[in-house]
Amino acid sequence: MFASLINDLIDLQENGITITVNSNIIQVYFVLGLVLGDNLGLNSILGFVSSFSANYCCRICRSHKTSAQKMLLECTESLRSEENYMLDVLQENVSETGVNELCVFNAIPNYHVIINSVCDFMHDVTEGVARYDMAVIITQLINDKYFTLIVGELVPIETPVWQLYIALRKIVDICCAKTIQSECSHLLDQIVAEHNRLYLLLSGSNLKPKFHMLTHYGRLLIKNGPLILTSCIRFEAKHKILKAFANSIPCRINLGHTLANKIQLQMASRYLTMSGLGPDLKMSKSFIIAPTVELSSIFLNKIPTELKVYVSWLDYKGILYQPGMVLVLEVNLDNCIFGEIVKIFIGELKIPYFIYKQIITVGFDSHYYAYQVELNSQFEFGGCYLTDLPDPTPTIIRTLGNGINFVSLRYAL
Ligand SMILES: [Zn+2]
Repeated sequence: MFASLINDLIDLQENGITITVNSNIIQVYFVLGLVLGDNLGLNSILGFVSSFSANYCCRICRSHKTSAQKMLLECTESLRSEENYMLDVLQENVSETGVNELCVFNAIPNYHVIINSVCDFMHDVTEGVARYDMAVIITQLINDKYFTLIVGELVPIETPVWQLYIALRKIVDICCAKTIQSECSHLLDQIVAEHNRLYLLLSGSNLKPKFHMLTHYGRLLIKNGPLILTSCIRFEAKHKILKAFANSIPCRINLGHTLANKIQLQMASRYLTMSGLGPDLKMSKSFIIAPTVELSSIFLNKIPTELKVYVSWLDYKGILYQPGMVLVLEVNLDNCIFGEIVKIFIGELKIPYFIYKQIITVGFDSHYYAYQVELNSQFEFGGCYLTDLPDPTPTIIRTLGNGINFVSLRYAL
């Protein structure tokens, strides 16, 4: 079934493709790094058992179902290796090994199913662990009568179910980070262990296979880099269109081939017509920059001279910015400095320039998993280009019932 794909991948690696850029001929070679997919998809195309109630359903380690259901940390002794994998293949006993057949992709040079292992954050956490956790957390909070519109401020500190929520929040935070220090892998292991321990305690049930996958995340972070970058979410977005094609095609001879063809034609058409590949910068109506009561001419004289106009909103590389949103100005070891957008300027460089009001960071509140901040009208304005920020994703200020303001990050920085 995969023979022609495998031949193509080998050809791309050995012969590559020739492209011409500014009349320079360049040879580009490709190497298969990872095969991405959801757990069932990966287990079946890579030759592992396709049932997650099987004795050895993990493609990364050889932990038996009963121990995986209680496992807090990755068990290094039971990891699959090239050697024990070959023995498992030869044994030809899927219920004793979890290996159904030799992985066909191993025929590709530099690829080995055991070395090039990967997990999918989207299916494991967003559609798995997070959903199971939230069911336990919400049920418990309702039983304890803490559940109203906003939960956090009503839940006493140290409530175990809230600790489970915070552990989940930390896991999501690390998994969604687009850049991350390698030391975070140990931290992730520790958080996963605590998370799995709390789930076992609070849910009264065993760890499901997706919880077990989390125990491998720390190591995979080191091997493959930021976990969100190997998520299936972009491919999953193609499901709808592929299903629509499949339903409208009457021919059922080699449907996979037809669909692959269709999606390639669609991609080619998209590149040729540039549809959905618009400019990086979209913005509202613009106004000439002029001094106001808030922004004096002395202040405006200090900003770069290329800036000409201001806008009420702006979309840069798919991210929307508006006055009132909060930017991360600085990240250091134990704190973050934030600024609230006051005005957005744009000039000849076509790079957004923000005028912001600095916000005082009181500190990180581990109960809310957010930074407590104070707004201060006395603070002077500052200005910076978007490209000078440590991270481009804006956030917002949330005010709790007791009047305290919090800012939370979208992912770990
Ligand atoms: Zn495992």
